[in-house]
Amino acid sequence: RLRPAVNKDNDDGLTGAYNRRYIHEQLPKDIERCVRNGLPLSIIVGDIDFFKNVNDMFGHLAGDRVLVAFCGVIEGSLRKGLEWFGRFGGEEFIIVLPETTPAVAAVIAERIRGRCMELETDFENRKLRFSASFGVSGFAKASFSDGVNAEVLFRSADSALYAAKRGGRNRVESCDLADSGEIIANAGR
Ligand code: GH3
Ligand code: MG
Ligand code: MG
Repeated sequence: RLRPAVNKDNDDGLTGAYNRRYIHEQLPKDIERCVRNGLPLSIIVGDIDFFKNVNDMFGHLAGDRVLVAFCGVIEGSLRKGLEWFGRFGGEEFIIVLPETTPAVAAVIAERIRGRCMELETDFENRKLRFSASFGVSGFAKASFSDGVNAEVLFRSADSALYAAKRGGRNRVESCDLADSGEIIANAGR
């Protein structure tokens, strides 16, 4: 492994990111707390662009190195304690930003995107470079957070990510659930 384990049960094994089990356990708790306290919450879903090409051209170990580098950029861009990130699988990650509006989350995603582009990762006398695309979703106002759950957030962040991929990759797309009508449509369920 390339990074020390945090906790075997919660850790994804390669990158030190939290794993799916932790994501499914912790995200609903963060949502519940923010809704209850009238605070915003946002998530960012990030996916490395053309990651398959890294594996195909430089090998699986190079791909692993890029995954770890991506996680290093994410980790270095978050406030410790409150904010955290997890690996869904493959080269797809979720960043959870309690107490953060979608507008601010988009700025953070943009910062991470820029840092990925600038990064050169050493691998067997080569310099690996990569970009990533991001989908942001969240709610800014407590009064609009009634129908929010982890699934609604995932789904909207994922469609924003798809829009970023379709739009040419290496970019950030956002969705504010209050603006999209998603929350009102789901309220009470
Ligand atoms: P896109 O820009 O559309 O996201 O294209 P992509 O190539 O990044 O996406 P695609 O889903 O086609 O390929 C993902 C690749 O990620 C395929 C799989 O072999 C590789 N992969 C998944 N998990 C790991 C891993 O732990 N290590 C390495 N090295 N590769 C992995
Ligand atoms: Mg990808
Ligand atoms: Mg993917």
